[in-house]
Amino acid sequence: MRISHTRFMLFAALALLFVSGCAVNPVTGRQELALFSISASQEVKLGQEAFPKAVQQMGGEYDDSTLAAYVNGVGDRLAKVAERPELPYEFKVLNDSTPNAFALPGGFVAITRGLLVNLENEAQLAAVLGHEIGHVTARDSVQGMQRGALLNLGLSVLSAATGSSGYGTLAQQAGQLAAGLLDNSFSREQERQADRLGVDYMVRAGYNPRGSVQLQEFFYRTVEGGAEPMWLTGLFRTHPFSRERMQDLQAYIAERYLLQQNDPRFIFNEQPFQRAIADLKKTSEGYALYDKAREQEAGGDVSGAIATYLQAAVKAPDQALILTQLGMAYLHAGDVRAARPHLVRAVQLDGSYYLSRLGLGVVYLELDDVPSAVGHLEKSMDLLPTDRAGYLLALGYEKQGRTLEAIDLYRQIAKTSPNSKVGQAAAQKVTELQSR
Ligand code: ZN
Repeated sequence: MRISHTRFMLFAALALLFVSGCAVNPVTGRQELALFSISASQEVKLGQEAFPKAVQQMGGEYDDSTLAAYVNGVGDRLAKVAERPELPYEFKVLNDSTPNAFALPGGFVAITRGLLVNLENEAQLAAVLGHEIGHVTARDSVQGMQRGALLNLGLSVLSAATGSSGYGTLAQQAGQLAAGLLDNSFSREQERQADRLGVDYMVRAGYNPRGSVQLQEFFYRTVEGGAEPMWLTGLFRTHPFSRERMQDLQAYIAERYLLQQNDPRFIFNEQPFQRAIADLKKTSEGYALYDKAREQEAGGDVSGAIATYLQAAVKAPDQALILTQLGMAYLHAGDVRAARPHLVRAVQLDGSYYLSRLGLGVVYLELDDVPSAVGHLEKSMDLLPTDRAGYLLALGYEKQGRTLEAIDLYRQIAKTSPNSKVGQAAAQKVTELQSR
């Protein structure tokens, strides 16, 4: 009895160290019940570490600097009039065909190419970004973390030293955190609140609130028309959409913003928006072929996929992502020499995407140019640590006679993914190298 009582006291003392259950929500003003209270600066650090990894996991940034500046401008205009203007907001366009948008803690917001091409005007874009900013100001994903699911991961990211990279360290944990946060879906109540906050920000920034209604009517038509799988796995999974949600938003606008709805000073900005996405639209046909090729490849038809990727690369030339997947498909088919020029070109066009670096690493390993392989694989691991790139990099170290570094890396992969094929192969390698 005595012992368990002492233990209990110890546990209670430890719990007190970590539990601080009373943070005030910046939007609702209500107290947040939390396992662990994440401060505003910790929130920013979590977002800063996880955002680059989230960008990598979703196809990397779409390469169009004019469009990037335009989207960032619209986002900043909204962020300035929101509750937490001091946050270091960033708005990025991601090269993903799935219609989607997300926000990470601290003000890191992204919209995909696949959602952008479906919008008609700047007010609709403002509705998407305003909604995401609403999740940030209401600390929706932070609250989810504080309640426990991603807490341990978040705490390790917060306690890790900034700037450390590679496997088994900050970069890898940040990658896992990003995946967890991207997977997080919001409650109906959180969605409703983000919709309302988004409209408030739109009106304060001078946008017509009807843009938000137009957007949800479009969502509604999409759902009613039997939504394509891409919508269901993208935007509608993380931000559940319903008829009630749309009706609630319409009622809110009718009650609060009736005058602004019909006031021409509150803008839609259709022309500037259409100009900004003109180049993006030109690549649509190529990316539609690219999506088809990805399906073919996933279904096991690699040679069919290669033929379709080649067509995609003709329709949308110089798109690094299309060339990357074309190169990877050739590698998939075992044709290293055919893969090489496409992966080289992809890295020339955009050196900051983990998968093209990984593919080129494979090419150079196969061609026995080990220093080049190691260089690209190290870069790939910096951008987004993966078991695959880690294993190949360890192989490169082994070929360079850097046995200790190889063992260390194999061991980390075996530890992180004990049940995967790559993890088991890595464990085997550790045993082999140590017995030498
Ligand atoms: Zn949402």
